[in-house]
Amino acid sequence: MTSDLSPAEQFFFDNAEYSWRPGKETEDAGRMRSGIMLAFAETVAKAADTRFMWVPDRNGEHAKDPDGPKTCELCCLYLGDDPIPIASIGCVDDATPEYKRVIEAELALAVIDKLPVPFNVVEAEP
Ligand SMILES: [Zn+2]
Repeated sequence: MTSDLSPAEQFFFDNAEYSWRPGKETEDAGRMRSGIMLAFAETVAKAADTRFMWVPDRNGEHAKDPDGPKTCELCCLYLGDDPIPIASIGCVDDATPEYKRVIEAELALAVIDKLPVPFNVVEAEP
C-alpha cells in the first residue's frame, strides 16, 4: 500500500502500466502520477454518461490458434446515446477483470477532453 493514494489510485498503481520522466521524477513518482490520472479518468467516466462495451474482436484470429490467447476482445467507450464510440481499442487478449478496468480507464483518459466533468467530480464514487 502506497500512502496517500485512494483505493482506486492504489488499484491503478498496482495494476496499470505507467510512465515516468527520467530526470524530472522518480520511477515511483511517475507510477503514482499514472495511477492518479487513471483513477481520475475512471471517476470522470463514471460520473459522465458513459458506457463500455466488450465484444469479441473480429480481427482476433490469433485467438483461434491453440497457442494463442483464449480471448481477444474489442472495448468501445460510448458517450450518452451516441451509437458511435468515442474511443475503442482492439486485440485485448485474455483480459482479467482487473485488466479490463485498466483498459476502460485508459480509454477514458485518452478522450477525457470529450467527457463532461461534473462539478462535484471530487465527491464521486472512487
Ligand atoms: Zn488479440
